[in-house]
Amino acid sequence: MRWWGWGREDHAPSLTAATLAYLRDSVGVGARPRPPVAFANVALPQSRLGESALDALRAIVGADGVALDHRERVLHAAGKGYPDLVRLRAGAPRGAPDAVLTPSSHEQVRAVLEHCARSSLALVPFGGGTSVVGGVEPLRGAHAAVLALDTRRMARVLALDRESATVSVEAGVRAPALERYLAERGLTLGHFPQSYEYVSLGGCAATRSAGQASTGYGAIDKMVLGLRLAAPAAEISLPALPATAAGPGMRQLLVGSEGVLGVLSELSLRVRTAPRERIYEGVSFENLPAGVEALRTLAREHALPDIARLSDERESEISLLLTGAGTLKGALARAYLGARGHRGGCLAIVGFEGGRAEVACRRRRAHELLAASGARSLGAAPGRAWLKGRFEAPYLRDELLTHGVMVETLETAVQWSGLLAAHHAVAAAIGGALARAGTPGIVMCHVSHLYESGASLYFTLIARQREGEEVEQWRAVKRAAGDAILDAGATITHHHAVGTDHTGWMEREVGDGGLAALRALKDELDPEGIMNPGKLLPARSR
Ligand SMILES: Cc1cc2nc3c(=O)[nH]c(=O)nc-3n(C[C@H](O)[C@H](O)[C@H](O)COP(=O)(O)OP(=O)(O)OC[C@H]3O[C@@H](n4cnc5c(N)ncnc54)[C@H](O)[C@@H]3O)c2cc1C
Repeated sequence: MRWWGWGREDHAPSLTAATLAYLRDSVGVGARPRPPVAFANVALPQSRLGESALDALRAIVGADGVALDHRERVLHAAGKGYPDLVRLRAGAPRGAPDAVLTPSSHEQVRAVLEHCARSSLALVPFGGGTSVVGGVEPLRGAHAAVLALDTRRMARVLALDRESATVSVEAGVRAPALERYLAERGLTLGHFPQSYEYVSLGGCAATRSAGQASTGYGAIDKMVLGLRLAAPAAEISLPALPATAAGPGMRQLLVGSEGVLGVLSELSLRVRTAPRERIYEGVSFENLPAGVEALRTLAREHALPDIARLSDERESEISLLLTGAGTLKGALARAYLGARGHRGGCLAIVGFEGGRAEVACRRRRAHELLAASGARSLGAAPGRAWLKGRFEAPYLRDELLTHGVMVETLETAVQWSGLLAAHHAVAAAIGGALARAGTPGIVMCHVSHLYESGASLYFTLIARQREGEEVEQWRAVKRAAGDAILDAGATITHHHAVGTDHTGWMEREVGDGGLAALRALKDELDPEGIMNPGKLLPARSR
C-alpha cells in the first residue's frame, strides 16, 4: 500500500488529459502539480517509549512483534480519509504511534491490553488502515504513549462449518484472502466494499461496513454470527448462533464498536454458495424521483437485485462525461447509451447473483417492475463496465490530489419517505459550503444499499483545493453536510462509521441516554480508557 494514498505503486495512472481539462474548466485545478513529499521527509514525533517499556512489550509479543522504524510508524500514522491524505502527502501527519505491535494470537492481544492498562498506554486497533473517518488516528488521550495494534499476524482461517455455512477466522484476515479461501470451496462471503483489496474482516466488523452488494448479501452486521472480544478488563466470547432471544443483541453491541471497547480477535461469519451466475446491467430513468420510486417498488415487492446503484442526474452526467473522456471508448459508450434511449436523466446499475434458475426468475420479476416504473433497459455493457472499474475510484482520487483537486465522499441512510428531501438538502448544504469557501464544486450522489424501509445516499464532491487551507475547507463542508444530514432525519453514517470525524453528531444520533449507555459499557470493559481514545464517543463535557 502506498504510504501517501491508495493501492500499489505500480498501478497504471487513470486520469486522462481530457478529464483534467474538464476539471480545469469546471472547478479549477491547482496552479502546478503537487506530488507527495519524499518518504524520508515525513516528519514524525520522537517515540515516547524507552527501552524498558519496549522490552516489556517484546516480552509479550516477541521481538519481531514490536516495530518503531520510520516506515511502520508512517504506515500507521493515519487512515485513508481526505484529511489523512492531505497531511501525509505534505509530510505532516497529525502524529504517529510510538510503536507498532503485531500480536499473533488472541492470548497475546489480551496480555498486551492488560499490560497497557497497567502502564497507561493507549492502543489503536489497526486492520487494513482504510478508515476514512479518522478511526485509526494515533491519539494518546491522557495516556503516556500510544501504540498501534496491527492485526495482520492474526489472519488464519480457524474453521469451516460447511453444514451451517459458517467460517471462523482471526480478525486480521484480509477480505481478498478470505474470498480466495472460500472460492476454492465453492463459497463466498459476498462482502465487497470499494476498499475490498485492503480491508481486514475485523476492521469491517468494527465499523459495520457495507459491501457494494449489501442489498443482496447484507452488510457485515448481518454476517457476523459469533465473535471474540479481548477487552482490557474482560473477555467476551459469543459462539456462532443463527439467532437468540437472550437479552439485547450482544453481538450487535460489539459490531460497530470501532476499537473503543476492545479488540475483536475472532469472528464467525455466515457464508453463501458462490454464485454460478452474475448478471449486471444498466437501466435509465427520466429523473431521480422516478428512479427512487422504481427502487422503492422493488423493495416493497421483495424483488430487489443484489446490487442496485441509482446515480442522480449530476452523477449520471459526470460519469458519462468522464468515462473515457476524449477517447474512442468514451464516444462509443455514449453512442451505445444514446441508441438505447438514454437522453440525460439517471443511470442505474442492477446486479443479480446466484444459481442460474434463481437469477433468471428474480431478474425477470425485477425487470417487469422496472419497466412498469418507466425504466429503459440499457443492456449488459454498463454493468460490465461498472464491475470492471468498481475498485478504481481511490486511485483516481490520488491523481486528482496531485493536481490540487479535492475529492471527498460521505454517506448516510434515510427512510424512503425522506429520501428525496435528504438528497436535496445535503447536496445543497455541501454545494453552499464549497461556494462560501470560494471553491464552487461538483456535488453528485447515488442511492445504493437498499432496504425495505429506505436506502443509503452516497455523495461525492469535487472542488479545487484551497492551497494551505485544505483541511479547514474540508471541515467546513463536513460540518455543513453533517448538520444537514441530521436535520433531514438521516443517520450521520451508513457504513463509514464514526471515527473522530462524526463524534460531534453522536449525541444527536443516539441521544444522551444512548451515549450514557455506551459510556457505561466502555467504563466497564476499559476502565482506564486506553482503547482507541477520541473515537466513536464525544469527549465528556466537564
Ligand atoms: C477508497 C475507500 C473506499 C471505501 N469503501 C467502503 C465501502 O464500500 N464500504 C464500507 O463499509 N467502507 C468503505 N470504506 C471504509 C473502510 O474501508 C471501512 O471502514 C473498513 O471496514 C475498514 O476496515 P479496515 O480493516 O481497513 O479497518 P481499519 O481502518 O484498520 O480500522 C477501522 C476502525 O476499526 C477499528 N478496528 C480495526 N480492527 C479492529 C479489530 N480487530 N477490533 C476492534 N477494532 C478494530 C480501528 O481502530 C478503527 O477505529 C472505504 C475506504 C476507502 C479508503
